[in-house]
Amino acid sequence: MSRIKFMNTEIDNLTMTEALDAIDDLIAANKNAYVVTPNVDHIIQLERGGEIVDVYKHADLILCDGKPLIWISKWYGTPIREKISGSDLFPLLCERAAKKGYKMFFLGAAEGVAARAAKNLEARYPGLDVCGIYSPPYGFENDEVEMEKITKMIKDAAPQILIVGLGAPKQEKFIYHNRERLGVPVSLGLGASLDFEAG
Ligand code: UDP
Repeated sequence: MSRIKFMNTEIDNLTMTEALDAIDDLIAANKNAYVVTPNVDHIIQLERGGEIVDVYKHADLILCDGKPLIWISKWYGTPIREKISGSDLFPLLCERAAKKGYKMFFLGAAEGVAARAAKNLEARYPGLDVCGIYSPPYGFENDEVEMEKITKMIKDAAPQILIVGLGAPKQEKFIYHNRERLGVPVSLGLGASLDFEAG
């Protein structure tokens, strides 16, 4: 089993390639799975408690995003094998999606950013199908009409992979609360990765 206990969470102790394979398996299983990528900030948020604890408890894949956690894991005697940051994972996931024919939806970042990221990634990985993008307005999470619009948009686009870039813990909470009604095989909260790929 790849999952190890680490500080106040668990980590799937995988290499990048194994993580991509695990995401393939989650897509095949088609059970509204989601991936979290803990870094030091998430560990602190988990320490404070609240909903993020439930989000982590039910995560299907927990990937280590951060060198400090790798160093700490060595001191603990349970070394984490590889740093799998969201921003490293994101382009590799797009490459795999292009190869396998998975559709992707990009939610989050400022107006125009996700569109630029999609354009860059589709140019780099021929065959990549970004089937939808949306930059939600400020405070959308408290607006039921807007939430209805967003979830319908994603559901209708029917991606296999949903990338949510809303910052932590907003992105994780969005996925956790809406995964049943979205029906997306795998969702990932990837912070500022859309910004990085937009250039
Ligand atoms: N973001 C957003 N809506 C929000 C809050 C944040 O679209 O209500 C976006 C922001 O534009 C950025 C991304 O979330 O693209 C990640 O933000 P941040 O760097 O704070 O997240 P982190 O990577 O530190 O989790």
